[in-house]
Parts: sequence; structure tokens; C-alpha cells
Amino acid sequence: MKAILLGPPGAGKGTQAARLSDSLSVPRVSSGDLFRHHQQQDTELGRLARSYMERGALVPDDVTIKMVMEWIDEHEGGGGFLLDGFPRTLTQAQALDSALAGRGGIDKALYISVPQDVVVSRLEGRLVCRDCGTPYHMESAPPDRRGVCPKCGGKLVQRDDDKPEAVRKRIQVYLDETAPLIEYYREQGVLEEVNGESSIEEVGRDLVAALS
Ligand code: AMP
Repeated sequence: MKAILLGPPGAGKGTQAARLSDSLSVPRVSSGDLFRHHQQQDTELGRLARSYMERGALVPDDVTIKMVMEWIDEHEGGGGFLLDGFPRTLTQAQALDSALAGRGGIDKALYISVPQDVVVSRLEGRLVCRDCGTPYHMESAPPDRRGVCPKCGGKLVQRDDDKPEAVRKRIQVYLDETAPLIEYYREQGVLEEVNGESSIEEVGRDLVAALS
């Protein structure tokens, strides 16, 4: 199963990718997480990525494509993968298609659709654990003790790119650069759309049904 998750920032791609990867035993990666990892390690790529991510812009295609392709080569082992947050531009989608040309391309593009006003409130209320990355929400999924991750005790923080100005920019970038991929994959006959406004469990069930 070679699948990608599409949808606006805040659609729940990360949450669903983690659930699907566990239940299907398929390796998954989030390009955003790879960049955040590079930032934590203070690599050259991490420093470059930070300058784009802070303002909600996309990291340039060439470095992003290289990073994700390296991850696929190292982790996939021929059994498929789940990509969360990649591809995000037509150039990235075409690079992925060329890399998979000998293997039948992408099997499924799972599009989690959520209206814009809903994603804005999800993103601006989101807190993430600085240590384990688990997401919470100030209203809909509040952590037990204020400011502390119930799972690992790490500090809960707001991502710089979840601040209002960056959120507006990320949504605009999504509409301009990433939303056209919905048609791209529909034309390839691999697009499956699920309603991302349902509960986490329902969206998860719909995605599993779409994959089978
Ligand atoms: P995410 O965690 O998926 O919301 O990604 C956070 C940020 O990482 C994005 O706003 C971009 O700045 C950067 N990023 C993640 N994936 C990509 C990608 N495929 N192409 C370019 N930039 C990306």
C-alpha cells in the first residue's frame, strides 16, 4: 500500500496517519516532523526549514523532495508507506510519481476534507507536547493538567506556525499550491475523499474503508 494523505493544515492528517500506520503496520512519515527533527538537531537543513516554517511558507521543493525520497529509500523496504504532508506541490507530486514509476505509482490519495473556518479554530487552539509531539486542543481535547503532556510529562507549547498570522498564510499556501493536487490524483483515479469533520474514530473507519 503506497498512500498519501491530503488535506488542509489542521484536517487531522497526522492523527489519522498515526492510527492507520499502527493498524496496517505500514511505515509512515510526516514531512513536517522530519523538518522539526532537523531543527531540533540544529542541522543545516533544519536552519533553512525554520526560516520558511516560522512564517507558514513551504520549504523549497528540491530539499523537501530529497529529504522525503531518502526517507522512503531507508524505511520502506518494498512494503509500502503512508505519507503525511507530502506531496504539497505539483512538482513534488510529479517527483514522487517518477520515483514510483516502475512500481505502479501511488495506490491511494486519501483526501480529508474540512471547511476553512473549522481548520482555523483547530490550529489556533492546538497545543503540542514539545517532547513526544502528541497534539491536544485547548477546548476539544484539553490535557489533564494545564501545560503538561499527560503521556510523557513534557511541556505543551503552541507551534510558531499555529499563531494566527502563520495560520492564515498556511491556509493560503494550501489553497494555491496543494489543493490542485486533489484534481491531479482524481484524474489518476486514486483519489478517495472522506469527511474530516466527523469524530477521530469515524474518520479513521472511513479511511480504512477507502483503503480497502
Ligand atoms: P505540517 O507539520 O505538515 O503542518 O508542516 C509544517 C511546515 O513544514 C509547513 O508549513 C511547511 O513550512 C513545512 N513543510 C512540511 N511539509 C512540506 C512539504 N511537503 N513541502 C514544503 N514544505 C513543507
